[in-house]
Amino acid sequence: MQTALFDCHTHTEFSACAEDVSLQRYVEITRTSDQPFAITDHSAQIFYPPTNRWGFWSDDAVALFEANIESGGARIRHYVDTIREAQCGGMYVGTELDVLPDGRMVFPDDLLGSLDTVAGAVHSMPTLKAERPLDEIYAEFRFQVTALAGHGIDLLVHPYRLVLAAGAPVSDALVDWTVRCARDGGFALEINSHKQCEDADLRMVRLALEMGVTLAIGTDTHRTSEFGDFSYHRQILRDAGLPEESWSAHLLQPPVAAEAAAAE
Ligand SMILES: [Zn+2]
Ligand SMILES: [Zn+2]
Repeated sequence: MQTALFDCHTHTEFSACAEDVSLQRYVEITRTSDQPFAITDHSAQIFYPPTNRWGFWSDDAVALFEANIESGGARIRHYVDTIREAQCGGMYVGTELDVLPDGRMVFPDDLLGSLDTVAGAVHSMPTLKAERPLDEIYAEFRFQVTALAGHGIDLLVHPYRLVLAAGAPVSDALVDWTVRCARDGGFALEINSHKQCEDADLRMVRLALEMGVTLAIGTDTHRTSEFGDFSYHRQILRDAGLPEESWSAHLLQPPVAAEAAAAE
């Protein structure tokens, strides 16, 4: 039998880049599947106004954030309430947390602790946009990851997607820094199958295993066909030389439900 994997990263219609996925569809899936998964919609695409869901990626990101603190907070509260109300089966309630280039999180301070899963992401780097030198790009990456760690993320998702998508390399030193940061900050590092970065993932996974850092499995489902497909994750774990019988000891497990934790 294959090891059951917790999918810590999926999207619904609350994410502007989602394709055919919907909260209703996940509810239906739970009726026939035990698959544990967290719904983690992009915090910025909910926080920024419906007329400007990509505002976080614009040059006005900070001004728009400040102009929408109240209404954005209300939209996030509505999102969390909606997912919590629909929660059933193996579904958990989370977010893919965005931070501004200055490190502020795009999420109400008092609400983050109520989530089951907080997946931190580096989604916007002005140094990449401005094609700054590599040392500045790495410094900004480290700054944003440190900010996410300070906000208490459970895992860092697709750590190198943005850097690689911009055509910049990921050095061994950057991988080493990321894994140490995860170890010191107590968060997991995601193997993400939505956009695969095999070389960087393998280097990260090997080092994480050496340093005792927990790994997380994320499909980052934007379309239904991605849900439940763990072939990439399995391949990376195998290529990293980890025997399947020890996977669960190294992988992020579903959060303990509040009632179960209270009963312990
Ligand atoms: Zn993402
Ligand atoms: Zn995502």
